[in-house]
Amino acid sequence: MNTLIAAIAFAADKHRNQRRKDAEASPYINHPIALANVLANESGIEDERVLVTAILHDTIEDTETTEQELVSSFGQEVANIVLEVTDDKSLPKSERKRLQMEHAAHISSRAQLVKLADKICNLRDIAKSPPANWSLERKQEYFDWAKSVVDGLRGVHPGLEALFDAAYGARPVE
Ligand code: NDP
Ligand code: ZN
Repeated sequence: MNTLIAAIAFAADKHRNQRRKDAEASPYINHPIALANVLANESGIEDERVLVTAILHDTIEDTETTEQELVSSFGQEVANIVLEVTDDKSLPKSERKRLQMEHAAHISSRAQLVKLADKICNLRDIAKSPPANWSLERKQEYFDWAKSVVDGLRGVHPGLEALFDAAYGARPVE
C-alpha cells in the first residue's frame, strides 16, 4: 500500500464539502496538499510520517475524524503527530492562539515541521488570496502571531524556517 496516496484519498473524502476562506472558496484539500508539497519538494523532507501527517493535519480539528480512525488507517504514531498539531476547539480562540505559542517548543520535531509548513502556507495564502473581508490589521495580526509561534520552534529545520521568513517578508503593509 502507498500510505501517502491513501492519506490523500482519506483527507479528500473527509474535507470533501469544505472550502478555504479565500474569496474564491478554494477546495479545502488544496491546503493539506500544499503543506506536503512544501515539505517534500521545497525542503527535501522525505520522512513519510511527516508527509502523511501534513496531509491529515486538519482532519481531527476541522472534520468529524476521530483519533481511532487515524490509528486504524495510519497507525498510532501518525495519529499522535496529528493530535500534536490539533487545537482544542472547546477553548476560546484567544486561548488556542496563546497555547500554540506556548506549545511550539515542546511538541515533537515531526510536529514542528508540519506546524512550520502550515504557517508558511497560511501566510502565502493571506498574501495571495486572503480570507474575504479581512482588514489590513487582521492580516498583520495573523502574520505576527504566526511568527511568534515559529520563533518558538526555531532550529528544527533552517531551510523550512527560511521559507517561513520569506513568506513573512510579504507581510501586508497597506
Ligand atoms: P481564523 O483562525 O478565523 O482564520 C485563520 C485560519 O483560517 C488559518 O489559520 C487557517 O487555518 C484557515 N484558513 C482558511 N482559509 C485561509 C486562507 N485563505 N488564508 C489563510 N488562512 C486560511 O482567524 P484568526 O487567526 O485571525 O483568529 C481569530 C482571531 O482574530 C481571534 O483571536 C479574534 O479575536 C481576532 N479577530 C481580529 C480581528 C481584527 O480585525 N483584527 C477581527 C476579528 C477577529 P487552518 O490551516 O487550520 O485551516
Ligand atoms: Zn492547516
